Parts: sequence; C-alpha cells; structure tokens
Amino acid sequence: MGFSYHDNADLLDRILTEHPEMEFVQLQINYLDWESEGIQSKKCYDVCVKHGKPVIVMEPVKGGTLANVTEDVEKLFKDYHKDMSVASWAIRFVASLPQVKIVLSGMGTMDMMQDNVSYMKDFKPLTDEERAIVFKARDIINSNIAIQCTACAYCVDGCPKNIPIPRYFSLYNSEQLEYKGKGWSNHGEYYDRLTQAFGKASDCIKCGKCEKICPQHLPIRDNLVLVAKQFEH
Ligand code: SF4
Ligand code: SF4
Repeated sequence: MGFSYHDNADLLDRILTEHPEMEFVQLQINYLDWESEGIQSKKCYDVCVKHGKPVIVMEPVKGGTLANVTEDVEKLFKDYHKDMSVASWAIRFVASLPQVKIVLSGMGTMDMMQDNVSYMKDFKPLTDEERAIVFKARDIINSNIAIQCTACAYCVDGCPKNIPIPRYFSLYNSEQLEYKGKGWSNHGEYYDRLTQAFGKASDCIKCGKCEKICPQHLPIRDNLVLVAKQFEH
C-alpha cells in the first residue's frame, strides 16, 4: 500500500514518519524538476531514501516536454548517442536513481513503446558523463525560463503575507516550459496545495519588502500578478 504525492518534502517526511506502514511512494521526478523548488523532486526522493521507501516515478518525460526540446538540446543528446531518442535520456535519468523501482511513462504510439522497451530491457544506468549532459540540457532549457529567480529565498522571511515566492516562480516557470501539445499540466495542483499552507500570490499587498532584498532585482510584485493569473481561477 502506498500513495502518489504532490506536495513538499517536509510534509512527506512527516507522513512517512507517522505512517511507517506505507510501502511505496509515487513521485513526479524528471531532470527538469529534479532541483525545482516548486515540485521538489530531489527533496522528496531524498525523504524516501531516508525512510527506505521504494519510489515509483510519474512524469519522467514531464508530459512530453522533455521529448520535445529545442534544437540545441536535441543536438546535445544526438551528438553523444545519435541513435537514442531524446525521451530516452529523460527516462534513463530517473531509472538510474537507486531508490526507483518503477518508471511510469505515458506512451501514445507503438513506436514510443518500442523505443522505451529498447533501453529498459537491458537497462544501463547513466554514466557520470551522460548525467553531466542531462544537467547541461537542463541548464539550457532553464536559461529560457520566464522568471530568472535563483530560489535563494532571501525574500521569503520578511513577507507579511507568508508567500512562498520562489516556489511560486518555479511552478510558473515550469508551466511556461510545458509542452503545449499535451493540453494539461499539474502545476496548478501543486499551487493549490501550497496555498493551503501559505499566502496566495494574489494576497500580496505590494509592500515591496521582498524586492528591496532580492539580489536578482526581480519585479516580484509584477511577477506575482502573473502567477495569480496563471493559477488562480
Ligand atoms: S510585496 Fe508582496 S510578496 Fe513582497 S513582501 Fe510584500 S506582500 Fe510579500
Ligand atoms: S530573493 Fe529574488 S532570486 Fe531570491 S528567491 Fe526571492 S525572488 Fe528569487
């Protein structure tokens, strides 16, 4: 018996501490969300490692986003393995994590299934060199993100409305990168969960405290308006 999880790592730690009978956790993990403050893939994975719980991965290709990358990212992958699909890098990244026992990958065609089976059948984990290429791809993808927040969190403590600014920006950026052909995303679900414990983006009273401290000089107040427009309906 286990559960699928869309929330932060601290709560997951609490749940697994209070419910040691749980036998697995299903997490959204992919190389783009790995260190994201909004999704917290790595932090949640580390909690599962700490509690010794096997992990089932959902969204390894981020709903097709990591199969439909820009030309420069595709070239990076193809220059290294010309016969391996772009999606294979994303799936091998998660399947290489020791605590991962199952990878759930949505497939729409027989070709996709044959491609997935081709490298999962006799699975070889990513080498250090391949892992470095994956993170390089992630950095290229992230260099085009909408809000250039570094998630330093300096702005968070002084906010009178307790708004988790970097987490919201991370979700907003992920939403903008999402493969549009898919027609849906679950970032709104993560957003709704966060608003149960923290202030909403629209709660901002525009006091400006956060902008005074932001080392990136981001227009946080304007960006929160974008976040609210995206996720609050
Ligand atoms: S401007 Fe908004 S987000 Fe920034 S500190 Fe004030 S209430 Fe918080
Ligand atoms: S201070 Fe600026 S860069 Fe740092 S988390 Fe806040 S918004 Fe992002």
